[in-house]
Amino acid sequence: MKKNSYDFELERIKTEIKERGARRVGLQLPEGLKTVAIDIAGEISKDTGAEVIISGNSCFGACDIDEKLEKVVDLLFHFGHTDTFYFKKRKPVVFIELRSGVDVKPVVEKAVVKIEGEAVGLTATVQHVHALKEAKLLLARYGKKALIGKSRLKYDGQVLGCDFSSALVPCDEILFIGSGGFHPAGLALYTGKRVIAADPFTLQISIYEPEELRKKRYIAIARALDAKSIGIIIGMKSGQFNLNRAVSLRVKAIEKGLNAYLIAMDEIIADKLLGFGVDAFVNTACPRLAEDFVHFEKPVISAKEFEVVLGERRWEDIF
Ligand code: SF4
Repeated sequence: MKKNSYDFELERIKTEIKERGARRVGLQLPEGLKTVAIDIAGEISKDTGAEVIISGNSCFGACDIDEKLEKVVDLLFHFGHTDTFYFKKRKPVVFIELRSGVDVKPVVEKAVVKIEGEAVGLTATVQHVHALKEAKLLLARYGKKALIGKSRLKYDGQVLGCDFSSALVPCDEILFIGSGGFHPAGLALYTGKRVIAADPFTLQISIYEPEELRKKRYIAIARALDAKSIGIIIGMKSGQFNLNRAVSLRVKAIEKGLNAYLIAMDEIIADKLLGFGVDAFVNTACPRLAEDFVHFEKPVISAKEFEVVLGERRWEDIF
């Protein structure tokens, strides 16, 4: 099955089910791909005889395994992400990376004219990470030196919204191959470099300037400086759970004379925060695109940003 040229690896899935004798299996797909869940479930069920349960919950990253479903199935197929260093291996979870077969050459050729420097760091989501070498060769033909950085993740050049280690290469700018603004905005914030985002599906090129993004974060921190009461959010998804960090931030906040409360939640969305009578929130869960939080009614800042508010860290040390 192919959608947007993603490889759903259905034959591998069926083989795993048969070889591991799984009778009941779960499917977990990212939001945008839930439209094909029914087709996948139907085909797997027909060809293997296994009972299939589709997760209707969110699926934002490898951190976001549907643990309740995992408990009631023999195998859980999690689509769109790779296992990572922070993911505790679990036998029943099988990652299907959803590699894309889309040709990246047209969008890289379009992006070349936007690259101002000589050296560019090449990054991608796992869906396009296999195409980075080809992109590097193409850029060389245009006289650009492309570097694919080592990463703490599974593949060189791969990025996650919470891990941009592969972008730490000696370069003038970053070229990101993938869709959406989540990763390129995070890259610009994290590296302080201009990011050219090239979407191989739409052939759209977008530019992310670090200074603009950092200004928004600075405004959020400035708003939190006036807060007298703080809600410290603990993400309850297994890969995002950071209780110790949240507890220690609360202790520090109280020492500084603030009222601070711990709030546990699965997903941080504006509506769920509305009811809490605090002046600002600190997010210890998925760092997400901090820019998402700009639209929330009250400031939502990261743990590191809160340390700036508490006077424990300098703004220059985080960005
Ligand atoms: S960015 Fe957030 S959703 Fe994505 S893997 Fe990291 S913690 Fe999970």
